[in-house]
Amino acid sequence: MQTIGYAAQSKDSVLAPFSFERRDLRAGDVAIDILYCGVCHSDLHHAHNDWGNTVYPAVPGHEIVGRVSAVGEGVTRYAVGDNVAVGCMVDSCQHCDQCDKGEEQLCRNGFTGTYGGHDPVFDTPTRGGYSKHIVVREEFVLRVPNGLDLSRVAPLLCAGITTYSPLKSWNVQPGSRVGVVGLGGLGHMAVKLASAMGAHVTVLSRSDAKKADAMALGADALLVSSDPEAMAAAASQFDLIIDTVPVEHDVQPYVPLLDVDGTIVLVGQVGPVGEVNSIPLLFGRRRVAGSLIGGIAETQEMLDFCGEKNVLPDIEMIRMDEINDAYERLVKADVRYRFVIDMASLDLAA
Ligand code: NAP
Ligand code: ZN
Repeated sequence: MQTIGYAAQSKDSVLAPFSFERRDLRAGDVAIDILYCGVCHSDLHHAHNDWGNTVYPAVPGHEIVGRVSAVGEGVTRYAVGDNVAVGCMVDSCQHCDQCDKGEEQLCRNGFTGTYGGHDPVFDTPTRGGYSKHIVVREEFVLRVPNGLDLSRVAPLLCAGITTYSPLKSWNVQPGSRVGVVGLGGLGHMAVKLASAMGAHVTVLSRSDAKKADAMALGADALLVSSDPEAMAAAASQFDLIIDTVPVEHDVQPYVPLLDVDGTIVLVGQVGPVGEVNSIPLLFGRRRVAGSLIGGIAETQEMLDFCGEKNVLPDIEMIRMDEINDAYERLVKADVRYRFVIDMASLDLAA
Protein backbone atom coordinates (compact mmCIF):
# COMPACT_ATOMS: atom_id res chain seq x y z
CA MET A 1 0.00 0.00 0.00
CA GLN A 2 1.42 3.36 -1.06
CA THR A 3 1.22 6.15 1.51
CA ILE A 4 2.56 9.63 2.05
CA GLY A 5 4.15 11.16 5.09
CA TYR A 6 6.68 13.73 6.24
CA ALA A 7 10.28 12.67 6.69
CA ALA A 8 13.64 14.10 7.69
CA GLN A 9 16.29 13.16 5.11
CA SER A 10 19.24 14.00 7.38
CA LYS A 11 19.86 15.36 10.85
CA ASP A 12 20.10 18.91 9.53
CA SER A 13 17.21 18.82 7.06
CA VAL A 14 13.69 20.03 7.72
CA LEU A 15 10.83 17.57 7.44
CA ALA A 16 9.29 17.37 3.95
CA PRO A 17 6.77 15.20 2.02
CA PHE A 18 7.91 11.63 1.45
CA SER A 19 6.15 8.74 -0.34
CA PHE A 20 6.66 5.20 0.91
CA GLU A 21 4.95 1.84 1.20
CA ARG A 22 3.09 0.19 4.05
CA ARG A 23 3.02 -3.61 4.06
CA ASP A 24 0.05 -5.49 2.62
CA LEU A 25 -2.27 -6.82 5.31
CA ARG A 26 -1.04 -10.03 6.86
CA ALA A 27 -3.09 -12.31 9.09
CA GLY A 28 -3.62 -10.49 12.38
CA ASP A 29 -2.92 -7.02 10.92
CA VAL A 30 -5.06 -3.91 11.20
CA ALA A 31 -4.86 -1.13 8.57
CA ILE A 32 -5.54 2.34 9.92
CA ASP A 33 -6.30 5.68 8.25
CA ILE A 34 -4.48 8.14 10.49
CA LEU A 35 -6.61 11.11 11.55
CA TYR A 36 -4.32 12.80 14.10
CA CYS A 37 -0.76 12.45 15.31
CA GLY A 38 0.72 14.13 18.38
CA VAL A 39 4.15 15.77 18.33
CA CYS A 40 6.40 14.39 21.08
CA HIS A 41 9.80 15.83 21.98
CA SER A 42 11.13 12.34 21.17
CA ASP A 43 10.11 12.93 17.51
CA LEU A 44 12.45 15.89 17.46
CA HIS A 45 15.26 13.90 19.14
CA HIS A 46 14.76 11.21 16.47
CA ALA A 47 14.65 13.61 13.49
CA HIS A 48 17.79 15.38 14.75
CA ASN A 49 19.61 12.11 15.55
CA ASP A 50 20.08 13.20 19.18
CA TRP A 51 20.27 9.53 20.22
CA GLY A 52 22.81 8.66 17.51
CA ASN A 53 20.77 5.79 16.00
CA THR A 54 18.52 7.45 13.42
CA VAL A 55 18.51 5.94 9.93
CA TYR A 56 17.14 8.30 7.25
CA PRO A 57 14.66 8.98 5.76
CA ALA A 58 13.02 9.18 9.20
CA VAL A 59 9.24 9.51 9.62
CA PRO A 60 8.51 10.37 13.29
CA GLY A 61 5.20 10.14 15.14
CA HIS A 62 4.09 7.74 17.89
CA GLU A 63 0.90 9.33 19.17
CA ILE A 64 -1.46 8.00 16.53
CA VAL A 65 -5.25 8.13 16.38
CA GLY A 66 -7.20 6.84 13.41
CA ARG A 67 -9.94 4.68 12.02
CA VAL A 68 -9.70 1.05 10.96
CA SER A 69 -9.88 0.77 7.15
CA ALA A 70 -9.31 -3.00 6.80
CA VAL A 71 -8.48 -6.02 8.93
CA GLY A 72 -6.44 -9.11 8.10
CA GLU A 73 -7.49 -12.70 8.51
CA GLY A 74 -8.10 -13.76 12.10
CA VAL A 75 -8.47 -10.26 13.57
CA THR A 76 -11.14 -10.48 16.24
CA ARG A 77 -10.87 -7.33 18.32
CA TYR A 78 -11.32 -4.65 15.65
CA ALA A 79 -13.60 -4.01 12.70
CA VAL A 80 -13.64 -1.51 9.86
CA GLY A 81 -14.75 1.90 11.15
CA ASP A 82 -13.51 1.48 14.75
CA ASN A 83 -11.70 4.41 16.36
CA VAL A 84 -8.28 3.14 17.36
CA ALA A 85 -4.87 4.32 18.48
CA VAL A 86 -1.23 3.28 18.26
CA GLY A 87 1.51 4.40 20.63
CA CYS A 88 5.27 3.97 20.73
CA MET A 89 5.43 0.23 19.94
CA VAL A 90 4.24 -1.85 16.98
CA ASP A 91 5.70 -5.24 17.90
CA SER A 92 7.65 -7.29 20.47
CA CYS A 93 8.67 -10.94 20.78
CA GLN A 94 5.40 -11.90 22.55
CA HIS A 95 6.99 -14.89 24.29
CA CYS A 96 9.47 -13.63 26.91
CA ASP A 97 8.53 -13.22 30.57
CA GLN A 98 8.11 -9.45 30.22
CA CYS A 99 5.79 -9.76 27.21
CA ASP A 100 3.86 -12.43 29.13
CA LYS A 101 3.40 -9.92 31.96
CA GLY A 102 2.14 -7.29 29.52
CA GLU A 103 5.32 -5.21 29.83
CA GLU A 104 6.16 -5.25 26.12
CA GLN A 105 8.16 -2.03 26.54
CA LEU A 106 10.62 -4.12 28.58
CA CYS A 107 10.63 -7.08 26.11
CA ARG A 108 13.81 -9.13 26.66
CA ASN A 109 14.30 -9.22 22.91
CA GLY A 110 13.62 -5.54 22.42
CA PHE A 111 10.31 -4.08 21.28
CA THR A 112 9.86 -2.65 17.79
CA GLY A 113 9.39 1.10 17.98
CA THR A 114 6.66 2.71 15.91
CA TYR A 115 9.48 4.62 14.26
CA GLY A 116 13.18 3.88 14.12
CA GLY A 117 12.68 0.16 14.85
CA HIS A 118 13.50 -2.54 12.30
CA ASP A 119 10.79 -3.30 9.75
CA PRO A 120 11.37 -6.93 8.73
CA VAL A 121 9.09 -6.68 5.67
CA PHE A 122 10.93 -3.80 3.98
CA ASP A 123 14.27 -4.12 5.81
CA THR A 124 14.07 -0.41 6.57
CA PRO A 125 13.47 1.53 9.79
CA THR A 126 9.84 1.49 10.88
CA ARG A 127 8.07 4.69 9.91
CA GLY A 128 5.76 6.54 12.25
CA GLY A 129 2.54 8.45 12.37
CA TYR A 130 3.38 11.61 10.40
CA SER A 131 1.63 9.79 7.54
CA LYS A 132 -1.77 8.95 6.11
CA HIS A 133 -1.82 5.20 6.82
CA ILE A 134 -0.25 2.59 9.05
CA VAL A 135 -0.50 -1.20 9.31
CA VAL A 136 -0.05 -2.68 12.80
CA ARG A 137 -0.54 -6.14 14.27
CA GLU A 138 -3.69 -6.38 16.33
CA GLU A 139 -1.92 -6.83 19.67
CA PHE A 140 -0.45 -3.31 19.43
CA VAL A 141 -3.68 -1.52 18.49
CA LEU A 142 -5.57 0.29 21.27
CA ARG A 143 -9.27 1.04 21.47
CA VAL A 144 -10.33 4.68 21.91
CA PRO A 145 -13.13 4.89 24.51
CA ASN A 146 -16.43 6.21 23.18
CA GLY A 147 -17.15 9.80 23.97
CA LEU A 148 -13.56 11.09 24.05
CA ASP A 149 -12.88 13.98 21.66
CA LEU A 150 -10.81 12.17 18.99
CA SER A 151 -8.88 15.28 18.04
CA ARG A 152 -7.37 15.44 21.54
CA VAL A 153 -6.70 11.76 22.22
CA ALA A 154 -3.38 11.34 20.36
CA PRO A 155 -1.03 12.72 23.07
CA LEU A 156 -2.32 10.14 25.54
CA LEU A 157 -0.51 7.47 23.52
CA CYS A 158 2.93 8.65 24.64
CA ALA A 159 2.74 11.66 27.00
CA GLY A 160 -0.24 10.04 28.73
CA ILE A 161 1.08 6.52 29.26
CA THR A 162 4.64 7.68 30.06
CA THR A 163 3.33 9.62 33.05
CA TYR A 164 0.42 7.32 33.97
CA SER A 165 2.72 4.30 34.30
CA PRO A 166 5.00 5.72 37.05
CA LEU A 167 1.99 7.16 38.89
CA LYS A 168 0.61 3.61 39.02
CA SER A 169 3.95 1.87 39.64
CA TRP A 170 4.59 4.12 42.65
CA ASN A 171 1.02 3.63 43.85
CA VAL A 172 -0.20 7.23 43.78
CA GLN A 173 -3.40 7.54 45.82
CA PRO A 174 -5.65 10.35 47.00
CA GLY A 175 -3.43 12.60 49.12
CA SER A 176 -0.10 11.43 47.64
CA ARG A 177 2.29 14.36 47.22
CA VAL A 178 3.45 14.41 43.60
CA GLY A 179 5.95 16.82 42.01
CA VAL A 180 6.26 17.27 38.24
CA VAL A 181 9.48 18.75 36.86
CA GLY A 182 8.97 20.58 33.53
CA LEU A 183 5.54 21.68 32.37
CA GLY A 184 5.57 20.53 28.74
CA GLY A 185 3.77 17.73 26.90
CA LEU A 186 4.58 14.99 29.41
CA GLY A 187 4.50 17.33 32.40
CA HIS A 188 1.03 18.66 31.76
CA MET A 189 -0.32 15.11 31.36
CA ALA A 190 1.38 14.13 34.62
CA VAL A 191 -0.44 17.03 36.32
CA LYS A 192 -3.83 16.10 34.87
CA LEU A 193 -3.48 12.37 35.59
CA ALA A 194 -2.08 12.75 39.12
CA SER A 195 -4.75 15.27 39.94
CA ALA A 196 -7.46 12.91 38.57
CA MET A 197 -6.04 10.24 40.93
CA GLY A 198 -6.57 12.61 43.84
CA ALA A 199 -2.93 13.51 44.46
CA HIS A 200 -1.67 16.85 45.75
CA VAL A 201 0.29 18.06 42.71
CA THR A 202 3.12 20.61 42.55
CA VAL A 203 4.70 21.74 39.29
CA LEU A 204 8.45 22.42 39.47
CA SER A 205 9.15 24.88 36.67
CA ARG A 206 12.14 27.09 35.87
CA SER A 207 10.14 30.30 36.43
CA ASP A 208 6.66 31.22 37.60
CA ALA A 209 5.58 32.08 34.02
CA LYS A 210 3.37 28.98 33.80
CA LYS A 211 1.81 29.33 37.28
CA ALA A 212 -1.71 30.23 36.12
CA ASP A 213 -1.57 27.42 33.54
CA ALA A 214 -0.36 24.92 36.13
CA MET A 215 -3.27 25.72 38.43
CA ALA A 216 -5.77 25.58 35.54
CA LEU A 217 -4.41 22.15 34.58
CA GLY A 218 -5.16 20.88 38.09
CA ALA A 219 -1.96 21.53 40.05
CA ASP A 220 -2.20 22.71 43.66
CA ALA A 221 1.06 24.68 43.64
CA LEU A 222 4.03 25.74 41.53
CA LEU A 223 7.56 25.70 42.87
CA VAL A 224 10.19 27.74 41.00
CA SER A 225 13.16 25.39 40.67
CA SER A 226 15.59 28.28 40.08
CA ASP A 227 14.73 29.83 43.48
CA PRO A 228 17.08 28.28 46.09
CA GLU A 229 15.07 29.55 49.07
CA ALA A 230 11.81 28.11 47.78
CA MET A 231 13.57 24.81 47.03
CA ALA A 232 15.08 24.67 50.54
CA ALA A 233 11.66 25.33 52.08
CA ALA A 234 10.22 22.37 50.12
CA ALA A 235 12.61 19.78 51.63
CA SER A 236 11.02 16.35 52.34
CA GLN A 237 7.67 17.42 50.90
CA PHE A 238 7.15 14.84 48.12
CA ASP A 239 6.38 11.13 47.87
CA LEU A 240 7.04 11.02 44.13
CA ILE A 241 8.65 13.40 41.64
CA ILE A 242 8.36 12.81 37.90
CA ASP A 243 11.17 14.55 36.00
CA THR A 244 10.27 15.24 32.34
CA VAL A 245 13.13 17.60 31.38
CA PRO A 246 14.27 16.66 27.85
CA VAL A 247 17.90 17.79 28.05
CA GLU A 248 20.90 17.02 30.26
CA HIS A 249 20.33 18.70 33.62
CA ASP A 250 21.22 18.46 37.28
CA VAL A 251 18.92 16.02 39.12
CA GLN A 252 20.60 16.52 42.50
CA PRO A 253 18.58 19.63 43.59
CA TYR A 254 15.34 17.61 43.44
CA VAL A 255 16.48 14.68 45.60
CA PRO A 256 16.22 16.40 49.04
CA LEU A 257 12.65 17.42 48.16
CA LEU A 258 11.64 13.77 48.58
CA ASP A 259 10.32 12.51 51.89
CA VAL A 260 11.61 9.26 53.43
CA ASP A 261 11.14 6.43 50.89
CA GLY A 262 10.35 8.97 48.19
CA THR A 263 11.35 8.40 44.57
CA ILE A 264 12.30 10.67 41.71
CA VAL A 265 11.47 8.98 38.40
CA LEU A 266 13.36 10.16 35.34
CA VAL A 267 11.27 9.94 32.17
CA GLY A 268 12.65 12.84 30.14
CA GLN A 269 16.35 13.02 29.36
CA VAL A 270 17.87 9.89 27.83
CA GLY A 271 21.54 9.88 28.81
CA PRO A 272 23.80 11.24 31.53
CA VAL A 273 22.07 13.09 34.36
CA GLY A 274 25.03 14.64 36.13
CA GLU A 275 26.28 13.71 39.57
CA VAL A 276 23.90 12.49 42.23
CA ASN A 277 25.19 12.66 45.79
CA SER A 278 24.36 9.56 47.84
CA ILE A 279 23.97 11.41 51.16
CA PRO A 280 20.31 12.42 50.73
CA LEU A 281 19.66 8.95 49.26
CA LEU A 282 21.10 7.17 52.31
CA PHE A 283 19.68 9.56 54.88
CA GLY A 284 16.07 9.14 53.82
CA ARG A 285 16.05 5.88 51.82
CA ARG A 286 15.26 7.98 48.76
CA ARG A 287 15.50 6.53 45.29
CA VAL A 288 16.34 7.71 41.79
CA ALA A 289 14.52 5.59 39.20
CA GLY A 290 13.55 5.55 35.54
CA SER A 291 10.46 4.56 33.59
CA LEU A 292 9.76 3.87 29.92
CA ILE A 293 6.31 4.41 28.39
CA GLY A 294 4.10 1.51 29.60
CA GLY A 295 2.80 -1.87 28.40
CA ILE A 296 -0.10 -2.32 26.01
CA ALA A 297 -2.56 -3.46 28.70
CA GLU A 298 -1.60 -0.50 30.89
CA THR A 299 -1.97 1.84 27.90
CA GLN A 300 -5.51 0.57 27.37
CA GLU A 301 -6.15 0.97 31.12
CA MET A 302 -4.90 4.59 30.88
CA LEU A 303 -7.16 5.30 27.87
CA ASP A 304 -10.14 3.85 29.73
CA PHE A 305 -9.26 5.90 32.84
CA CYS A 306 -9.12 9.04 30.67
CA GLY A 307 -12.45 8.04 29.11
CA GLU A 308 -14.07 7.68 32.54
CA LYS A 309 -12.65 10.90 33.96
CA ASN A 310 -12.61 12.83 30.66
CA VAL A 311 -8.90 13.56 31.03
CA LEU A 312 -7.52 15.01 27.78
CA PRO A 313 -4.45 17.04 26.90
CA ASP A 314 -4.50 20.74 26.07
CA ILE A 315 -3.52 20.83 22.43
CA GLU A 316 -2.65 23.17 19.60
CA MET A 317 -3.79 21.70 16.29
CA ILE A 318 -1.38 22.24 13.39
CA ARG A 319 -1.24 21.41 9.69
CA MET A 320 1.38 18.90 8.55
CA ASP A 321 3.30 21.65 6.73
CA GLU A 322 3.62 23.59 10.02
CA ILE A 323 5.69 20.84 11.62
CA ASN A 324 9.08 22.54 11.20
CA ASP A 325 7.86 25.69 12.96
CA ALA A 326 6.36 23.48 15.67
CA TYR A 327 9.78 21.85 16.25
CA GLU A 328 11.38 25.27 16.66
CA ARG A 329 8.76 26.21 19.21
CA LEU A 330 9.16 22.88 21.03
CA VAL A 331 12.88 23.57 21.53
CA LYS A 332 11.94 26.90 23.14
CA ALA A 333 9.33 25.20 25.39
CA ASP A 334 6.75 27.38 23.63
CA VAL A 335 3.82 24.96 23.41
CA ARG A 336 0.60 24.93 25.43
CA TYR A 337 0.85 21.92 25.82
CA ARG A 338 1.01 19.50 22.91
CA PHE A 339 0.99 19.99 19.16
CA VAL A 340 -1.30 17.62 17.28
CA ILE A 341 -1.13 17.29 13.50
CA ASP A 342 -4.46 17.16 11.66
CA MET A 343 -3.62 14.52 9.08
CA ALA A 344 -6.40 15.72 6.76
CA SER A 345 -3.98 18.57 5.98
CA LEU A 346 -1.40 16.21 4.50
CA ASP A 347 -2.88 15.92 0.99
CA LEU A 348 -2.87 19.67 0.61
CA ALA A 349 0.60 20.08 2.05
CA ALA A 350 2.13 17.33 -0.06
P1 NAP B 1 8.39 19.22 25.99
O1 NAP B 1 6.95 19.32 25.64
O2 NAP B 1 9.39 19.94 25.17
O3 NAP B 1 8.50 19.63 27.55
C1 NAP B 1 9.68 19.62 28.29
C2 NAP B 1 9.62 20.62 29.44
O4 NAP B 1 10.85 20.52 30.17
C3 NAP B 1 9.50 22.08 29.02
O5 NAP B 1 8.20 22.53 28.83
C4 NAP B 1 10.20 22.83 30.16
O6 NAP B 1 9.30 23.04 31.24
C5 NAP B 1 11.25 21.83 30.63
N1 NAP B 1 12.53 22.16 30.01
C6 NAP B 1 12.81 22.33 28.70
N2 NAP B 1 14.10 22.64 28.51
C7 NAP B 1 14.65 22.67 29.74
C8 NAP B 1 15.95 22.94 30.22
N3 NAP B 1 16.95 23.26 29.36
N4 NAP B 1 16.16 22.87 31.54
C9 NAP B 1 15.16 22.57 32.38
N5 NAP B 1 13.90 22.32 31.97
C10 NAP B 1 13.65 22.36 30.68
O7 NAP B 1 8.88 17.69 25.95
P2 NAP B 1 8.02 16.34 26.15
O8 NAP B 1 7.39 15.96 24.85
O9 NAP B 1 7.20 16.49 27.38
O10 NAP B 1 9.18 15.28 26.36
C11 NAP B 1 10.02 15.38 27.48
C12 NAP B 1 11.12 14.34 27.38
O11 NAP B 1 10.57 13.06 27.63
C13 NAP B 1 11.82 14.23 26.03
O12 NAP B 1 13.21 14.12 26.24
C14 NAP B 1 11.30 12.94 25.44
O13 NAP B 1 12.21 12.32 24.56
C15 NAP B 1 11.11 12.12 26.70
N6 NAP B 1 10.16 11.00 26.61
C16 NAP B 1 10.44 9.88 27.33
C17 NAP B 1 9.55 8.84 27.35
C18 NAP B 1 9.78 7.63 28.19
O14 NAP B 1 9.20 6.60 27.92
N7 NAP B 1 10.57 7.72 29.24
C19 NAP B 1 8.40 8.91 26.58
C20 NAP B 1 8.15 10.08 25.87
C21 NAP B 1 9.03 11.12 25.90
P3 NAP B 1 9.35 24.39 32.15
O15 NAP B 1 9.27 25.52 31.16
O16 NAP B 1 8.14 24.24 32.99
O17 NAP B 1 10.59 24.38 32.96
ZN1 ZN C 1 6.82 10.25 22.75
